[in-house]
Amino acid sequence: MHTNSIIELNKQAYQKNISFLKTTFGKKVLLSSVVKGNAYGHGIKEFVAMAYDIGITHFSVFDVEEAKIVKATLEDKATIMVMGLVQDEDMEWVVANDVEFFVFDKSRLSKALKIAKKQTKKAILHIEIETGMNRTGFEKKELSSIIPILKKEKEHLVFKGLCTHYAGAESIANYYRVEKQIKQFNDIYQYLCDQDLRPQMKHSACSAASMMFPQTRMDMVRIGIMQYGLWPSPEVFVNYLNTTKNKTDPLHRVISWKSNVMSVKKVNIGDFIGYGTSFLAERKMKIAVIPLGYSHGYSRSLSNQGRVLINGQRCIVVGSVNMNMMTVDVTDVEIVNKEDEVVLIGTQQDLTVSVASFSDFSNQLNYELLTRISKTIPRKIIE
Ligand SMILES: *Cc1c(COP(=O)(O)O)cnc(C)c1O
Repeated sequence: MHTNSIIELNKQAYQKNISFLKTTFGKKVLLSSVVKGNAYGHGIKEFVAMAYDIGITHFSVFDVEEAKIVKATLEDKATIMVMGLVQDEDMEWVVANDVEFFVFDKSRLSKALKIAKKQTKKAILHIEIETGMNRTGFEKKELSSIIPILKKEKEHLVFKGLCTHYAGAESIANYYRVEKQIKQFNDIYQYLCDQDLRPQMKHSACSAASMMFPQTRMDMVRIGIMQYGLWPSPEVFVNYLNTTKNKTDPLHRVISWKSNVMSVKKVNIGDFIGYGTSFLAERKMKIAVIPLGYSHGYSRSLSNQGRVLINGQRCIVVGSVNMNMMTVDVTDVEIVNKEDEVVLIGTQQDLTVSVASFSDFSNQLNYELLTRISKTIPRKIIE
């Protein structure tokens, strides 16, 4: 087990995010908590337990491996929906456990039907529609081949949802494309209704769409990044601020990432620090070694860039981030000792390293940085 760092999940922050989101969407819209990518790096097992505790009962995952973790943690207390991969050999488990799943091609539909018949159970389907993202989903012209099956096999196939996903709702630049997708989705819904085939619910919105295009909320929203307290993009945040009187950020970062100083050393003027020649000491320096590197998910692109907090001061990463270690400049921190707390994401005294500033430096999205954080780092819920 890793003993060199810890991830903390702030339950109160999460509670505030969920209250904000529920108030925004209203009672009629179900909130599905998207926990793919190890709950965006937060730790899926710990995260879903915390979320369930404050009233979340619907979770969206990418694949069956993640679905199994949610199932093992919450048993039958929550609804689980797989938005991506269900391998043929996993279909038995999925149907037997009432796990819901996206269907975007006919072969998955046939497989589901076969297994449902064998188990004398119902497979619970969300039919995904291709509306312009060009990733997964049925095109309108393909629907004629599945409509008769859905109508005929009601004993084994539950048409639970009709869904789609937008191609970049977080950016105004995609406004026209998303509007077209919304229209296409509604057209297809109408087309199915005309064929006397009605899903129990419609859903399409991720975080960005739910804020930028309220008409996409429909019966359920699939919320990932915002529940973790981060905006999908600065544009979505600014757009929100423009619509509200209270100009404060309603979202609160749930994650903190902390480690401790492993050793402290002095470096002479004119010496290089770390591998190669990427950092030359231009003065006498004091360096703290942190036992974290890219193997733990602290990106190499933060070499000579990343900021961490030590004893209430912001310190910069010097030299390259190594596999298991990195060095930070603590020359201006008066007292630094082995074991002193190092904050990689989070708050120390009155300073904060947000995921966003962390990612601005490395030119990556919040999404990518978070999901890189190693699964093996222990997660702890702070009540
Ligand atoms: C990841 C994902 C979401 C959630 O996206 P956020 O931007 O994190 O809210 C919703 N729907 C689908 C299909 C996804 O893959």
